[in-house]
Amino acid sequence: MKFEFPHVEPPPGVSPADWNSSSWQFKNSLKNLEDYQRYYQLTDEERAGFSGQDQIFRVRTTPYYAQLGRGPYGALDPIRKILMPSRAELTPGVQHMLDPLGERKNNPVSRIIHRYPDRVLFLVTDFCSVYCRYCTRKHFTGQDQVFPNAEELETAFKYLQDHKEISEVILSGGDPLTLSNSQLSMVLRRIRKIEHIEIIRIGTRIPVVAPMRIDEELLEIIKRHHPIYMMTHFNHPRELTQLAAQALTRIVDRGIPTFNQMVLLNGVNNHANIVRALSRRLLYLRVKPYYMFQCDPSEGTDHFRTSIEDSENIQRQLWGSLSGLAMPNLSLDIPNGGGKVGLVPDFEQLRSPQRRIYRGWDGVVAEYVNPEPSTIETPVDFRQWE
Ligand code: SF4
Repeated sequence: MKFEFPHVEPPPGVSPADWNSSSWQFKNSLKNLEDYQRYYQLTDEERAGFSGQDQIFRVRTTPYYAQLGRGPYGALDPIRKILMPSRAELTPGVQHMLDPLGERKNNPVSRIIHRYPDRVLFLVTDFCSVYCRYCTRKHFTGQDQVFPNAEELETAFKYLQDHKEISEVILSGGDPLTLSNSQLSMVLRRIRKIEHIEIIRIGTRIPVVAPMRIDEELLEIIKRHHPIYMMTHFNHPRELTQLAAQALTRIVDRGIPTFNQMVLLNGVNNHANIVRALSRRLLYLRVKPYYMFQCDPSEGTDHFRTSIEDSENIQRQLWGSLSGLAMPNLSLDIPNGGGKVGLVPDFEQLRSPQRRIYRGWDGVVAEYVNPEPSTIETPVDFRQWE
C-alpha cells in the first residue's frame, strides 16, 4: 500500500461490532452539548456555539467522525472545526445569505431544484448524519423534513416524467445514503423507469462520516440502477481512514465512477500541501478529485471563507506538482443561483486576436499563434449529433 490510512479506534467500552455498525453509529450520534462534552473539552468559543443552535443550524455527528476529530491539535483540529459549532457562526456574515445558491427560486415543485435545463437536484431527505458547520443549504438541511411524503414523491416523479429535457438527476439533500435501503431502492427504481433520464448522481458525505454504511446490500441496490455516479465530499486527507478507503474501494469495485467535491475552508484545508495530499490519496483509491469549491457565503460561515486570491494561489501551487488527473477544478457558485464559474490562475501575459503569450507554472514563457478564422472548418456531420 502506497499510502497509510489511519485507523479510528472506538472509545473505551464500545465493541468493534457496534463501532462497525452504521445503525449503531446513527443511533448513538452526538446531538447536544452534553454529548459533545463526552468527547471534547470544549472551549468557551465552542460552548457559545451551542447556545444558538436552534436558531442557526442543527448539531449532529456520528461517534466515528467525532472520534476522528479528537486529533492532537485540540480546538484547532481541522475535523473538529468542521463538526463543532462555534460562537463565530452566530454572526450571519457580510452577505447574510440563507440560500446562497438561490435554490428557493428554482424550486418548481417540492424537493426539485431545476437550475440548468438538462439536470435537476432531487432533495430526497434533509437529514445528514453530520451537520457540517459550513453547509451551503441551511435553508433546507436539518429542518425535520426527512423523506418526502407520498404526495411530494408523486409530484416530483411526475415533474421528472413531464420534463423531457432532463437527462440527469442528482440525488441530494441532506444525504441520500442516510435513507433506508428500501427507500433508496424505490427512488432509484422510479427514476430508472423514466425513459429520458440517462444519468443518476448521488451526492453523499457518508463515505466520510459513516463509511460502515457502504455495505454489499447498499452497493447491490445502486449497481442495479446503473449508470450511477457517486459524488463524495472529502475535505481533508485525514478523513481518508482505513474504513473510508475500504468503502471507496468497494464502491469503485462495483463499477460506480466516483468523483470528489471539496470545499476550501479557512483553518481546515486552505494549504496546497493539504489539498495535494488529499487529491493524491483519492486518485490512488480511484476517486477523481473533481471540484474545489470556494466556500459559499451561507449564514454563519464567514470564518470558514478563504479569499479568492488565496484559493487561486493554492491552485497555482498545485498546477505543476499534481497530475492533471488529480487536479480539482477551483470553482465558485455565483450568489443567488448564477451557476458555477471556474477560477483559473492567470497564466496569460498578452492577448491579441492573432497571438497569446503565456507564462507556465515554472516560468517558461511562449507564444501561441491563433489560427485565422477563415481556416476554421465546421465538421460535416455536426447536425447528426444534436
Ligand atoms: S453533508 Fe452536505 S448537506 Fe449535509 S450538512 Fe454537510 S454540507 Fe450540508
